[in-house]
Amino acid sequence: MPKAIALYSGGLDSTLAILVMQKLGVDVTAITFLNHFGCDISDKSSCSKDPFAASVKFDFKVKLAHLSDKFLDIVKNPRYGHGKNMNPCIDCRILMLNEAREFMKLTGSDFLITGEVLGQRPMSQRKDCFPMMDKAAGVKGLVLRPLSGKLLPVTIPEEKGLVNRELLYDFNGRSRKPQMALAKAFGLTEYPAPAGGCLLTEPIYSFKLKDLLHYSKHPEHKDINLLRLGRHFRFSPDCKIIVGRNEEENTAIKALADEEDFLLNVEGAGSPLTIIRGHVTDAAVALAASLCARYSDAKKLSEVTVMVLQGAKKYFLPVPPASNEMIELYRIEKKPTLVTKT
Ligand code: SF4
Repeated sequence: MPKAIALYSGGLDSTLAILVMQKLGVDVTAITFLNHFGCDISDKSSCSKDPFAASVKFDFKVKLAHLSDKFLDIVKNPRYGHGKNMNPCIDCRILMLNEAREFMKLTGSDFLITGEVLGQRPMSQRKDCFPMMDKAAGVKGLVLRPLSGKLLPVTIPEEKGLVNRELLYDFNGRSRKPQMALAKAFGLTEYPAPAGGCLLTEPIYSFKLKDLLHYSKHPEHKDINLLRLGRHFRFSPDCKIIVGRNEEENTAIKALADEEDFLLNVEGAGSPLTIIRGHVTDAAVALAASLCARYSDAKKLSEVTVMVLQGAKKYFLPVPPASNEMIELYRIEKKPTLVTKT
């Protein structure tokens, strides 16, 4: 029985690619890549919350693999450039194919499959792009894309007779209707709605990441994880303030805080948890307290007492809530260009 490794996101397309291969008698093991930016991607149709859901129903194994710093490196310096935002989609897919190639060798598998559909994504799912990515990843001829296979050059597994090309599909373009019809035929009833990609495709998130990478060449994973939480303010090149937007974010910020981080909140009022990261001065604490007060339920008062915690230290700081001008001046998301303050 031929063996294949599938790049698997848990989305519709990558699941279908696996089901098509299973139907053709291929033993498929899926690999799901994780990164710091919210989802993997094996088919670009979605970010999966539960990559195991379909695997249980349709009986295939899933291996999880975190791309970690390798992924961060391509975000910082993508050979093939960023997409519209900070998403290095081509480099990302090459990296995944490269990692999958190692897994293919390790498991004695014959080839790779992906759920890519020709023309579905302008940056990385073009006809000229597939062979380029495969070559760069050292898997030339070894990547079968069953959903568009009839429209693509013959692959090695087809040449070897491991897969009948006539039974592949010719999906092309952005419509998901053919995939939905195929899903129905397979009895695949639950799959995530299509999503635009990982967090790197979001303009506001990308702006915050650019700011982080501008001021910190080697950011801690913690700082990257904080990017998805709260409102972000740049106090100085080496100091940031993050203000939680709701209870869930407050809890997540607290969980990510280090002993040395400053945590602020307004006692006795609905209050965001506010964290200061980096080199903290008295002025930074004063600004953070002011921001914390501004986003608390006490924001209408002329002066608010903010509790400041750092490790075992605790004190109270009376401050006026931050004005709109202060927010505009320091908030990272709102800035059209990066500014440096001291
Ligand atoms: S959107 Fe692009 S960069 Fe982000 S995970 Fe998908 S392919 Fe990779």
